Amino acid sequence: MTTTSMTSTPLPDTPAAPAAPAPRSSSPLDTAHSQLDSAVAVLGYDAGQRQMLATPRREIHVAVPLRRDDGETVLFHGFRVQHNITRGPGKGGLRYAPGVDIDEVRALAMWMTWKCAIVDLPYGGAKGGVAIDPRDYSTAELERVTRRYTSEIMPMIGPDTDIMAPDMGTDEHTMAWVMDTYSVNRGYTIPAVVTGKPLALGGSRGRGTATSAGIVHVTAAALGESGVPLTDVTVAVQGFGKVGSHAAAIFAARGATVVAVSDQYGGVRNDAGLAMDRLFSHVATTGSVVGFDGGDPLSNEELLGLDVDVLVPAAVEGVLDGVTAATVRARWVVEGANGPTTTDGDSVLAANGVTVVPDVLANAGGVVVSYFEWVQANQTYWWSEEEIADRLEHRMTSAYGDVSALAKREGLSLRDAALVIGVQRTAEAHRIRGLYP
Ligand code: GLU
Repeated sequence: MTTTSMTSTPLPDTPAAPAAPAPRSSSPLDTAHSQLDSAVAVLGYDAGQRQMLATPRREIHVAVPLRRDDGETVLFHGFRVQHNITRGPGKGGLRYAPGVDIDEVRALAMWMTWKCAIVDLPYGGAKGGVAIDPRDYSTAELERVTRRYTSEIMPMIGPDTDIMAPDMGTDEHTMAWVMDTYSVNRGYTIPAVVTGKPLALGGSRGRGTATSAGIVHVTAAALGESGVPLTDVTVAVQGFGKVGSHAAAIFAARGATVVAVSDQYGGVRNDAGLAMDRLFSHVATTGSVVGFDGGDPLSNEELLGLDVDVLVPAAVEGVLDGVTAATVRARWVVEGANGPTTTDGDSVLAANGVTVVPDVLANAGGVVVSYFEWVQANQTYWWSEEEIADRLEHRMTSAYGDVSALAKREGLSLRDAALVIGVQRTAEAHRIRGLYP
């Protein structure tokens, strides 16, 4: 479905009464529900439609026992949630983090549904997680956890049903283990059951940096609306993992001045711009940006409040709440992480005139190239790096254009406009398919 079909169902002139105020809690699921409620209010959907859109289609909770290298047995909890599969197979990452629970996975799965619809991929939304801190386990242990988790959720996943990808705490190696476990059990090689695989197994060129490249594309598009080129802005990036580190490097490569970055241990700042090559070597050697001699130390909280043009929260959920959002001095917040801004944080940023480019749009580059990888796997024909980069840029900038045009036309924030597009495309697919029986 495209913007054309989206606009074929006009928005009601008088939005329905706004939903009840969001609870003050900042859990990701509360945030996701309150964002959905805002979109539903704009679209004028009834309570039944809202409930269908809010409720995961299927979810599974599995026990994941691990025999440790020393012979001891420990047990983890694993989850997979298919929030929506109406526009196509479930799609979304697998997260390994100590605090993972079913509600967090539900929120992340819901965001995947909207994200895929906003960039118009033929997917629904899904997410998986295991409550484990991967830093505490050996590679062999993580392989066993991944293979057992995959076996437990096998009935739910597949290249046409639910396609996994890396997320926080997992990587291309994790995807290789998932793909191998699934394939061995089916009796033949099925590369399209996961994306974000190593290149040698049918991974796509450009997938590793796609989320970050997409962030920079939408930032350029947002700045462009105010006539500001990337080369004129200062940028601070919170989070120096797979998303934040490459975003910082791509911003710098495109001429922006990256003045601060941070990770979970702390941050570093240099108003003249951080030297990316040396910073990457420092992180490769020490495992953190902390202690980099090309800048001065700063804390994560200080980074959020820096006087920069663009702030990119690319770490974890909920970092911009009602309190921390009040310290933000950036003109644009571009959400690299999923759910970095709570509902309270959003209100504060809006009141202070900060433009928020929302996660479901800003970080969609990863799943866009996941889709390209899946298409390539299904066709067993591989595209060049240039083709992938061009198609990614086109998808991201045209999605930004759709969202921005709707925001202007209806007087909405970019978040509400993005959600309205994602929710409406999903609801429209439900409506056309009809209810069975
Ligand atoms: N985990 C990434 C996200 O949150 C990518 C998901 C995918 O490629 O399926 O968007």
